[in-house]
Amino acid sequence: MRRGVAGLNETWLGARGGRTKLETPALVLDADAFDDNVQTLARMANAAGLGLRPHAKSHKCAAIARAQIEAGALGIACAKIGELLALFEAGINPLMLTAPVASRRKIDRLTEAVARGAEISVVVDRAALVADYAQSAQEAGVRLDVLVECDVGQRRTGVATPEAAVALARQIADEPSLRFVGVQGYAGFVQHVFDHEARRAENRVAMGRLLAIVNALDEAGLPPEIVTGGGTGSHLLDLEDKVLTEVQAGSYVFMDEDYRRVDLHGSGADVFGTALFVAVTVIAHNLHGEAIVDAGSKSFSVDGPEPRAYLDGREIGRITFVGDEFGRLEAIPGKPVPPVGMRLECSVPHCDPTANLHDFLHVVRGDKLEDIWPIEARGLSD
Ligand code: PLP
Ligand code: MN
Repeated sequence: MRRGVAGLNETWLGARGGRTKLETPALVLDADAFDDNVQTLARMANAAGLGLRPHAKSHKCAAIARAQIEAGALGIACAKIGELLALFEAGINPLMLTAPVASRRKIDRLTEAVARGAEISVVVDRAALVADYAQSAQEAGVRLDVLVECDVGQRRTGVATPEAAVALARQIADEPSLRFVGVQGYAGFVQHVFDHEARRAENRVAMGRLLAIVNALDEAGLPPEIVTGGGTGSHLLDLEDKVLTEVQAGSYVFMDEDYRRVDLHGSGADVFGTALFVAVTVIAHNLHGEAIVDAGSKSFSVDGPEPRAYLDGREIGRITFVGDEFGRLEAIPGKPVPPVGMRLECSVPHCDPTANLHDFLHVVRGDKLEDIWPIEARGLSD
């Protein structure tokens, strides 16, 4: 077991009042909201007849991946090889690596895992990478599933034209150690467009680019079995448009202050509940009588709107970061300033990099600490 606050918090396992007695800072998962989120998207994908391949970049946690697979996910997407291998070692399969790499040694680690039973698919954006994967798979005596990575407007990775996609797909299909299984087109720039109709318009443009590639592959006799992409922001649009065969949403399990601003279904209602919190403790009051808590940028990612602070489930203010290890409560006028020693729960600015800061997730249902889950792939960004 890795070092962490769990050593302290484990003593509270099963105790009533787990939520308020946690040693802090501690990453907390609201089990009811989490279960709802997992089931809600699984149900929607199922009703639309599309697959779900949730992205583990958000949680890096095998217990969460397992819950997503139990709810019907086709497999789990990973951003990094370190992340993918940690989840494989923890029993998760199948796994898709959603980014190209530029290291033969990393590729060999993947194909070695395939030789040990991992069902892995990867994306490629260039001929040289196809050749590297083919050679490594051949040397490991395995066959690797490969998708063509397409740039649908993100200006990040991937080929942009149908001609280039067909050429890469053909190269993959011609390699005996590789299998061409499909295409990926992730429209990251669409996910955080706040307004639903504006987001729909942008997603249509992005998915139109992907559809042109899919059609060209069909015509070339290389029909993609898998058309993967999408995220929390575009999930409803993707399920409606059906250009994708599966959606890679990640943040929906947790939600964060950044995503709370996005009108996911155009109804103004919260589709997914906030399930991720950092429990903090008031450790001091400053000269102005403001509460200072024991968590700053080493416990929260800071690339998003400020966390909301809750006391017994009621919102009392926002946390402003005043150091790596400190936060200041900007209390809502009229709300009491909590005393020293009081535990607060705070939402997070951006869920993925926040989960990556913690070794453990404290799973809380109501007032009870139900479990402590290791975040196996935390920090593994290689
Ligand atoms: N797929 C890919 C390739 C991504 O990079 C990401 C997030 O950055 C996702 C899926 C998940 O997106 P979200 O967290 O918005 O659901
Ligand atoms: Mn994110």
